[in-house]
Amino acid sequence: MPHGKPAGMRCIQLDDDERCMIFGQPERPEVCANLRPEPLMCGETRGQAMLWLQTLEQSTHP
Ligand code: SF4
Repeated sequence: MPHGKPAGMRCIQLDDDERCMIFGQPERPEVCANLRPEPLMCGETRGQAMLWLQTLEQSTHP
């Protein structure tokens, strides 16, 4: 996504299994490569992880 991924939009690099199709490749955004997931942000389900992301987006929205 040349101009960045808007908040709330699914990344176009995700495949049908929710895996990054450019993982490990140089074109993967630096912010993605530098992210170090922690149990708190991932939770135990996809729903918990999405709730965490939504909370972050809302709390940092300008
Ligand atoms: S790691 Fe980054 S580029 Fe890959 S799917 Fe997730 S948001 Fe998209």
